[in-house]
Amino acid sequence: MTNTEPAPGAAKKAPARKTTAQQAAEQAPAVIEVRNPGTGAVVGTVPEMSADDVAAKVRELRLFQPEWEAIGPNGRKEWLLKLQDWLIDNTDTIADVVQSETGKPRVDSLIDPAFATDLLGYYARRAAKFLADDHPSPHSPLARVKKLTTAYKPYPVVGVITPWNFPLAMPALDVFPALAAGAAVILKPSEVTPLSALEMARGWAEIGAPPVFAVVTGAAATGAAVIENADYVQFTGSTATGRKIAVACAERMVPYSLELGGKDPAIVLADADVDRAAHGIAFGGMFNSGQVCISVERVYVEAPVYDEFVAKLTANVKALRQGIDGRESKHEVGALANENQTTIVQRHVDEAVAAGAKVLTGGKRAGFGTAFEPTVLVDVDHTMSCVTEETFGPTLPVMKVADEAEAVRLANDSIYGLSATVWTGDKERGERIARQLNAGAVNINDVFVNLFSFALPMGGWGQSGVGARWGGANGVRKYCRQQAITTPLLPTQEKELFWFPYKMPKLLFAVAAMRAAGARGLRRIDLPAVLKLKGDNK
Ligand code: ADP
Repeated sequence: MTNTEPAPGAAKKAPARKTTAQQAAEQAPAVIEVRNPGTGAVVGTVPEMSADDVAAKVRELRLFQPEWEAIGPNGRKEWLLKLQDWLIDNTDTIADVVQSETGKPRVDSLIDPAFATDLLGYYARRAAKFLADDHPSPHSPLARVKKLTTAYKPYPVVGVITPWNFPLAMPALDVFPALAAGAAVILKPSEVTPLSALEMARGWAEIGAPPVFAVVTGAAATGAAVIENADYVQFTGSTATGRKIAVACAERMVPYSLELGGKDPAIVLADADVDRAAHGIAFGGMFNSGQVCISVERVYVEAPVYDEFVAKLTANVKALRQGIDGRESKHEVGALANENQTTIVQRHVDEAVAAGAKVLTGGKRAGFGTAFEPTVLVDVDHTMSCVTEETFGPTLPVMKVADEAEAVRLANDSIYGLSATVWTGDKERGERIARQLNAGAVNINDVFVNLFSFALPMGGWGQSGVGARWGGANGVRKYCRQQAITTPLLPTQEKELFWFPYKMPKLLFAVAAMRAAGARGLRRIDLPAVLKLKGDNK
């Protein structure tokens, strides 16, 4: 405990004069040091931006957004595809930056710009179709006298707040669809990995695009200022922070969408191709050191193939090479993003072991930076944190189950519901099981593929999220307010039949017509009800 109170009886001193250097340091904006978690080296610094800085940026975005909206999806496509070219031309530099602030292997760092490029192309090219007015069929013959239109008008400023696991791809997931929708975007990347997002902003500036995209750097307070100023908030991160974001958005009555934590189960059935399952689950659990929201975090294996699967999975995980890459690819697994992550992973392993679990490989720090060895755990159960809490690290706890029913029951025994995988030789069985799982996505005999299918929605159930990203047209429409417009199809009269003053026969006619159009069978012409209505209105 620190005690800043003067000791009783101590003489009061005149406050010491501040030196010019001290005064300058106080006025200078606070700075965040960005480190490579694999080596500890400082790789950059960014300012900790204040609430005023954020408000000023948003005011600037608001000035330019109307023109961005006005050029329409095809005008925006030109700029978005220029950015796509820039991403391709600058891939190696971007990967260097991603690698420097995450300690990822080279291959993983190259995935960020490749993924961003793919997504950008999809929404740049398709936005015109997705944002075109809809003219839905009227629900009733009575409504056929109007042309019905649903128009999509972007929220002027979308705030995007992102975590550190994919420092370029994570922003791309939501920034690009929002820009394609015609919104201006303010992005607040994680304070742990802000440099890759700044690369994206550099690209936007270098292609000379309209200033409708800005990055603000800082920690929670900067993120809170984004929420204070944006018209829509898209957040990806932990469930605990997501809850705070939801509360802050509710205070301002601004809409939001949250992609949060997960504890994705994998179910390996006795009829599965065990070799494929063991390779796929090793990849699904260890890719990016398990720091993927949809990584495999727990495995349920049907008894007949349990021993074979565990042996093969352990061999695959043991074979992974761990270290810090340069520009050449030498490793599959690197460091964890920060020390906090390593502490969580170690705790989950230690608590499991203390409760009787066995470590088949890994189980400890890798000996450099924040890195933790890829770990396989068995003899685990649902009383252990490694099975119930999100680990977000390189651990694969494996449980034996008697049958499919037990696998489904345990897979669903979680507060989370982001995604899941099912491994089986029978695709129909896989689909049937998928529909029983409480998860926003299920991949059969594969991992992560839903994330590479932008035509599908990506959203979590339960504590894993609110709303979804992508899903084809919904991916841009979510950043728009929907406007319903009705236009007369027939020549209009001085007055509609039902306008004031009320006349009973007209009302009865209206009620009868609505009933006839909407109800079934004899109730369509329910005379007693009509007569009662007549009585009540006398
Ligand atoms: P983690 O703890 O795993 O780093 P978080 O979910 O806390 O992840 O953070 C994800 C993002 O949310 C980061 O960009 C972080 O700065 C931001 N953030 C954290 N707290 C708040 C908050 N109260 N309001 C807005 N943004 C926040």
